[in-house]
Amino acid sequence: MKILVINCGSSSLKYQFIDMENEEVIAKGLAERIGIEGSVLKHQPKDMDKVTIERPMPTHREALQTVVDALKDKEYGVIKDMGEITAVGHRVVHAGEKFAYSVPLNDDVMNALKECINLAPLHNPPNIMGIEACKQIMPDVPMVGVFDTAFHQTMSKKAYIYPIPYEYYEKYRVRRYGFHGTSHKYVAERAAAMLGKPLSEIKVITCHLGNGASITAVMNGKSVDTSMGFTPLEGLAMGTRSGNIDPAIIKFLMEKENIDINEVDKILNKKSGVLGISGVSSDFRDIEEAADSGNERAQLALEVYIHNVKKFIGAYAAVMNGVDAIVFTAGLGENSATMRSSICKDMSFLGVELDEAKNNVRGKETDLSKDGSKVRVLLVPTNEELMIARDTMKLVSK
Ligand code: AMP
Repeated sequence: MKILVINCGSSSLKYQFIDMENEEVIAKGLAERIGIEGSVLKHQPKDMDKVTIERPMPTHREALQTVVDALKDKEYGVIKDMGEITAVGHRVVHAGEKFAYSVPLNDDVMNALKECINLAPLHNPPNIMGIEACKQIMPDVPMVGVFDTAFHQTMSKKAYIYPIPYEYYEKYRVRRYGFHGTSHKYVAERAAAMLGKPLSEIKVITCHLGNGASITAVMNGKSVDTSMGFTPLEGLAMGTRSGNIDPAIIKFLMEKENIDINEVDKILNKKSGVLGISGVSSDFRDIEEAADSGNERAQLALEVYIHNVKKFIGAYAAVMNGVDAIVFTAGLGENSATMRSSICKDMSFLGVELDEAKNNVRGKETDLSKDGSKVRVLLVPTNEELMIARDTMKLVSK
């Protein structure tokens, strides 16, 4: 069984084609600049050179057609005909309160996802466009939706209700949803395997630290709290997103700077986080480099970030009455040994003891803690695509 995994952004389409016999990626790639001049597909077949295909892609439909053509190509393709694509798994960001699990994408589900557009106006429309394009190009291939919000649907009301008038939850479903669920679930499952215990018996704090970042408390296999909220803006300071701030700052800035709410929204989403503090970059590699060469604001950005992550780890250990493992994943979590080391520093009260020698590793599943550490510190490279493919296979095989 071969599964195509699709992840559509507003002007991009990422894909992986996975052979589920051995869970091997047989081709992957990225179409960029969809809807704008210079559309391009970079296609990487397994064991072959990467191919760059330049072709107009006014919509996701043309982008997907280009992907399918690349998969079938005589020279650099990996299949003979479309019949070899057993099913397609789509990443969908927001399913609101409607789906706690992955589901086949029938008309009712599509309508439910459209109803969630106002909850994720930037993310759900391109996700839906990608699904519709797929349905047009491969009408007979089963499609499955895998939702970023689904894993967090196990949170209890005390974790997801905001302390604002309750009517806004009732009227508009304003509540914490949480994101990166597929990643948190995957790394929590891997953590259980690495600990040699059932996931249903352990407490894990999963730190997905990438350009977007979130932390989740996973207790007995269920998400009990997570740092992102109604939108992916809440929680940790991120590359360009502010994360938690005093909401009163919004009115204050609007008055002082004479700007409207859209401008504030842009500032909090695009100009804040470690970019906002450092003024250097949203990329931690640039910030670490600047800090190393004496840039004080870059150093401050790192310190604020580390302080933030520590606060969530402490809070979630309290929420779960303990923790068995802290897991680091995503771009920063998988690659920056100094960041992991700084976060785990001075947490011996919790029983966290990082082994600096073991921590000197990148992108490889590793137990980073000292032999006697009460809490294990784990590096687990995330694999959202594989998770989507597995869910898709399960539903298609039923
Ligand atoms: P992601 O969103 O998971 O792709 O993560 C992307 C982010 O990971 C980048 O913006 C960087 O800030 C960070 N990152 C990736 N590699 C490294 C590295 N070697 N050192 C520090 N940060 C890194």
